[in-house]
Amino acid sequence: MEKRGNIRRLNRVVLVPGPFQGHINPMLQLGSILHSNGFFITVVQAQYNSPKPSSHPDFSFLPLPDTSSSATTTGEIIDFALQLNTDCKARFQECLAQVMRQLGPYDGIACIIYDQLMYFPEAAAKDLKLPCIVFQSGSAAVSLACDALFQLKAEGHIPFPESMSNDPVLELYPLRFKDLPILQEKLENFWQLPSKTNNIRTSLAIIYDTVDCLENSLLAKIQQQCQVPTFPIGPLHRISSGPSSSLLEEDTSCLSWLDKQSCNSVIYVSLGSIASMDVKELVEMGWGLVNSQQPFLWVVRPGSILGAEWIEVLPEGLKKNIGERGYIVKWAPQKEVLAHGAVGGFLSHCGWNSTLESICEGIPMICRPCFGDQKVNARYVSHVWRVGLELEGDLERGEIEKVVKKLMIDEEGEAMREKAKKLKENVKLCIKEGGSSYNSINRLVEMIRSF
Ligand code: UDP
Repeated sequence: MEKRGNIRRLNRVVLVPGPFQGHINPMLQLGSILHSNGFFITVVQAQYNSPKPSSHPDFSFLPLPDTSSSATTTGEIIDFALQLNTDCKARFQECLAQVMRQLGPYDGIACIIYDQLMYFPEAAAKDLKLPCIVFQSGSAAVSLACDALFQLKAEGHIPFPESMSNDPVLELYPLRFKDLPILQEKLENFWQLPSKTNNIRTSLAIIYDTVDCLENSLLAKIQQQCQVPTFPIGPLHRISSGPSSSLLEEDTSCLSWLDKQSCNSVIYVSLGSIASMDVKELVEMGWGLVNSQQPFLWVVRPGSILGAEWIEVLPEGLKKNIGERGYIVKWAPQKEVLAHGAVGGFLSHCGWNSTLESICEGIPMICRPCFGDQKVNARYVSHVWRVGLELEGDLERGEIEKVVKKLMIDEEGEAMREKAKKLKENVKLCIKEGGSSYNSINRLVEMIRSF
């Protein structure tokens, strides 16, 4: 890190996370890893969904201007991300200048690492001649699918008619057209984001929160197409020992409830920090879980039920049937839940963090993707790694009951549990000394030190 005859040390890394739970977690985990390698960390973040600085005493935080908008659907997320990038561009210049003023006389910024959704730092970094690195918080598969969208569009395959939804996208096995990470309903608007986020030419490297043993051939393909080095350094939640960056309070009482359940018996249900459902779907989910007769731990995030505050809309009969069998929380300590011996399956929306967290604990999944990258991840879970069952179509109690029983009781589920355990062991090998992610982190640290 020492430069110019030991005069100036480029020892600070500026992180710019995307303002969503699934983007904040891995970015701050990366920050902890870099901090333990001797770097000082400054997090520059929009005030919307900002993590609590007091939970991260090792980092400095600089707020960007607040925006009045919020984002709860994919359409809104796209508008929100575009607006945020516009709003933050100029202010980021000022933030960087502020960081530089506060540095010791011999300290300097080594580089800026920004989330792929937050492309606004590029311009300021270029002006100030600071190196930039892009951070992809999603899978390599999603990254390749996003790249392929332009080609598919040029060939006239996008937008695609309803009749093609189930057709395979030849160059993207096992994806079907309906799994593509696009928003057919707001296509014009949608295109603005990938056209901007794909413009990463000035960044010197790309970091992936993924792991070689899961996405080896896809990572090789990306590296072949890419002019700059790529660093698959995940799963970051497993490598980092940093504090939790949860935006909502975790209800740890569910861990005591899990202590009372038998090994591998509980199905854990969560659709992450953004996805939502309507009251009818909530009720179908409730009955499906009850009728499966498996114990369940169910996260119902406040605000995630369209037209309701929380679970007050569940019919009394259902509430009575849930009784002792089910435990409902507003937000769970998910990583601890998945590591608990009582949990034997995860009904998930297949956000990339949830997918990695489940695989790392050897927990097979029921895949209920809602939008965007989740559909790609779900296909990989069910058709490539084969550690999950798909739950497609309308949410309906009979289907939920069937798929929960299949995963938790049937031989097919047991075989998936065995496969998931093997994947867990493979991931462990990638993380430990000499493993692919371990080596990748060392190469990344060396690169940043060389700036
Ligand atoms: N999470 C949590 N408690 C919950 C539900 C989710 O801590 O009750 C965490 C989960 O561990 C993961 C993140 O929230 O790290 C969700 O990210 P993901 O990429 O899975 O989905 P997103 O929320 O971005 O859709």
